[in-house]
Amino acid sequence: MFELRLGDVIDDYCVKCRRVTNHSIVSIVNGEAAKVRCRTCYHDHDYRHEQAPPSKKDLKKAELFNEVLASGQPGEAATTEPASGGPAEDQKKARKPVKK
Ligand SMILES: [Zn+2]
Repeated sequence: MFELRLGDVIDDYCVKCRRVTNHSIVSIVNGEAAKVRCRTCYHDHDYRHEQAPPSKKDLKKAELFNEVLASGQPGEAATTEPASGGPAEDQKKARKPVKK
């Protein structure tokens, strides 16, 4: 087991570069890297143990994907139209040109 030192270069995931890059250790807590600095973009962040954090976008995507799976009909999951008629639907009809 080797000892980490400030300035050592280790691999970690950089959220700015969106990939695993070389990082310099800038802070050590209990013998483990606590903060690192990306050697590509010089962004400081907590050491992530090379794990990419799930972004909100990914979480949303996963949510939608699960909804589609649950519905069993991929086409219908995308529709956002209100099912019943109401004030909103009347306004929409008023904006459309009248067909003959
Ligand atoms: Zn970076």
